[in-house]
Amino acid sequence: MDERTAGRRKAIRKAQREYRWEGVECLPYKEDERALFKAVTRQILFSDPDLAGELRYFEVAPGGFTSLERHEHMHGVLILRGRGKCLVGTEVRAIEPHDLVTVPAWTWHQFRAASDEPLGFLCMVDATRDRPQLPTEAELAELKADAKIAAFLEDGAKSG
Ligand code: MN
Repeated sequence: MDERTAGRRKAIRKAQREYRWEGVECLPYKEDERALFKAVTRQILFSDPDLAGELRYFEVAPGGFTSLERHEHMHGVLILRGRGKCLVGTEVRAIEPHDLVTVPAWTWHQFRAASDEPLGFLCMVDATRDRPQLPTEAELAELKADAKIAAFLEDGAKSG
């Protein structure tokens, strides 16, 4: 067991100010430079060889957004902080604390923070999972053919 795993196995890790936790690193969202996202941090709250899943906390700064992506693995999301909107498939919805969002396999999704508030959420995933796919130009055009999705995607352009 490396030191990181040992640290995560402390039975209790106290919450700190501003949605941080004892012994949990605050990481940049993604390593992949191609991903279209803005102002997102990631904290891995639970990840352990003995767990089939992982629980992460993502925080999107005001006006920021996660990457528009899809993949085989699914997400279970609980909004913890702030306000914003999400796209799941063809559905665009306002989200606020304690809302639950289910993202099924192979479903386009994106989370956007309101322009004046950060958006923080817990995200449950399989520990072993495929890499996200980003939309091709054609797929993006297809998504934008739906007026409400086009408006959702342009939201960030205005505030960003
Ligand atoms: Mn995803």
